[in-house]
Amino acid sequence: MKFVKNYRCTLCGREYSKNEKLYTCPECGEKGILDVEYDYDGLKNILSQSYFDNNRNYSMWRYKDIISVEDEYLDETLRVGWTPLYKSKSLADKIGLKELYIKDEGLNPTASLKDRASAVAVIKAKEEEKKTIACSSTGNAASSLAGNAARLGISTVIFVPERAPQGKLAQLLIYGAKVISVKGDYKETFELSKKAIDHWGWYNRNAAINPHLVEGKKTVAMEIAEQLRWHVPDWVVVSVGDGCTIGGVYKGFYDLFQIGLIERIPRILGVQAEGCCPFYTSYKENEPLRPAKENTIADSISVGVPRNPVKAMNAVSKSGGSWITISDTAILEAMKLLGSTEGIFGEPAGVAGLAGLIKALNENVISNDESVSIIVTGNGLKDVKNALAAVEAPIICNPDINQLKKYLSGLQ
Ligand SMILES: *Cc1c(COP(=O)(O)O)cnc(C)c1O
Ligand SMILES: [Zn+2]
Repeated sequence: MKFVKNYRCTLCGREYSKNEKLYTCPECGEKGILDVEYDYDGLKNILSQSYFDNNRNYSMWRYKDIISVEDEYLDETLRVGWTPLYKSKSLADKIGLKELYIKDEGLNPTASLKDRASAVAVIKAKEEEKKTIACSSTGNAASSLAGNAARLGISTVIFVPERAPQGKLAQLLIYGAKVISVKGDYKETFELSKKAIDHWGWYNRNAAINPHLVEGKKTVAMEIAEQLRWHVPDWVVVSVGDGCTIGGVYKGFYDLFQIGLIERIPRILGVQAEGCCPFYTSYKENEPLRPAKENTIADSISVGVPRNPVKAMNAVSKSGGSWITISDTAILEAMKLLGSTEGIFGEPAGVAGLAGLIKALNENVISNDESVSIIVTGNGLKDVKNALAAVEAPIICNPDINQLKKYLSGLQ
């Protein structure tokens, strides 16, 4: 917290002291999402390449000086972050791209990028001495919160829409959360959770509303930069639901740029599903954001009314990036392609970035000689039902070598 300067409203620009316990701007209400601002001059004095070369903390807390949390509980959390950034060999060739990197966020403790936000959420709850945290989520924010909270001995109340995939639901229940499965869509789920949080006074992990969570998510961008020795790629591609993740990606690069650790901010491509694309529609039609239907297999980005619109749209416009949509079919193809060429198994929203990259190459939004990092935001084991729809059935064979020889004739 030492280097936090103040909060600033993303809508009206008003500044608030870092000592105020605010979620949103009192003047603008719920839409006035706050941004955390840092003392970059102070940070420049301590954060250098050699500081990071000598930093042995291989988790997101290696960036603790530039996250809005106190140090006190950092050693107690699950180990989140410092996930691998793979340089692709065969996939890059296959899709005709010069340089491709794959950030595998499925390797976080509860198997999605959401752990970066949840780790911060549980620490903030500790700082405020809250015994219970609540959130509403399409799945991963919830299962991630439940796991990270369990580790610190904090109770969780989770609101999920009925359609949450089984793997995520199983995680929640195993981590001991009190789960409310709401008979409604994500929007209705969110509204109910908000009323309950107001009523019971729990700590609020609803991502957009809570400015600290984007500060956790931004560490994914910082890792990409550091893992590439501070030479950032031309593009970073990420799937978008509420808009907190893409907002965090931009913020991470923005911070590093302000400190002078990187020379530019990569262009950011925001990927949405065709069946649920409020940001894309607003961008294409140059119209304000309108509620969209929620109709895609990519449950984690099936968000008809995004809660973090300003940060998301800024991420694309300020980075000189773009928006793109992909079909559910393209998502399933990307899932199989990523698994079979690189050995990485992503959930539908996790591989949406790859599907978006392939389309962006076809449409010349990204050109073949550029360098790109995709972020695989969540692990495929969370949603096995959709994964099985992406592939062919296995060979069914009697325990008989002669029958097997027939099936496998021609195999080397
Ligand atoms: C939450 C999530 C996203 C999108 O993040 P937003 O902050 O909602 O835009 C993408 N992929 C996965 C796997 C997620 O869990
Ligand atoms: Zn405001």
